[in-house]
Amino acid sequence: MNDRVPFWIVSAALTGCFSAPTPLAPGLNGSVGMPSSGVQTGAEELPVRGKGFERYRPQGKHHWGRPRLVNALTRIASEMDDELPGSVLVIGDLAARHGGKIPGHASHRSGRDVDLLFYAATPAGAPIPSPGFVRFEPDGLALVPDTREYVRLDVPRVWLLVKKLVTAPEIGVQFLFVSRPVEALVSEYARSRGEPLELLYHAQTVMMQPADSLPHDDHLHLRIACSPEESQSGCSGGGPYWEWLPPLQPAQTGSQALLEAIASDEPLEPLEPSSPEPHPGSLPLASGAD
Ligand SMILES: [Zn+2]
Repeated sequence: MNDRVPFWIVSAALTGCFSAPTPLAPGLNGSVGMPSSGVQTGAEELPVRGKGFERYRPQGKHHWGRPRLVNALTRIASEMDDELPGSVLVIGDLAARHGGKIPGHASHRSGRDVDLLFYAATPAGAPIPSPGFVRFEPDGLALVPDTREYVRLDVPRVWLLVKKLVTAPEIGVQFLFVSRPVEALVSEYARSRGEPLELLYHAQTVMMQPADSLPHDDHLHLRIACSPEESQSGCSGGGPYWEWLPPLQPAQTGSQALLEAIASDEPLEPLEPSSPEPHPGSLPLASGAD
């Protein structure tokens, strides 16, 4: 079994054993490893719907994330509905209950990623329910394939969402993956409102079109950074750790080899009875945003 340590780790995560101290995985729990290669324990499931939000896939199995991420999403969605009544944030995949690879995503493995659909409006600017994943062009318009009608990116609501995410006390935003044109529309709107320079700087720094995946013109992908506590229990990587986030502590000694083992494995859900051999791999420096 010495070559199967990564599988053992994933098995332990799947059965929830990580919370119990073991000689092999002391202190590894919560968000473990990187967004593109990690697992998670102690996840919380986003409800099917609530005040100001609903899941894109009501029956989906991949709406599990860090409890603080789920709390931030439900709180912010509720506030959006208070401030701009009728706003419904449509929330796509988070992660599987125990993390690992899920279909359609390179990341979303360690409970720190979530896809958020953009708020939409009529071409004249009246808020409407989300038409789903539609691709917004640089002029802010998107063609809805089903209806052959155009909708507009609801820039004021998207900016309010970005502002609330970037300033949320429960989470530190590592990235808000969006296409360059969407970022430009949102940033221009924020500047025109005279928003504080520090807020603009933080928002513009975390908004980014990823280089290694789709441009994100049909949704916004939020990735939260490891908290200082999480970084001590195995959470790592996924992007820069911005200087305005609370200082991290070094990871516990001995965890690094396990993290590398997790990163080199391909955890699958549901786990096949005969697990595939772990393939050799190295820790990627940049992780996919899908
Ligand atoms: Zn995503």
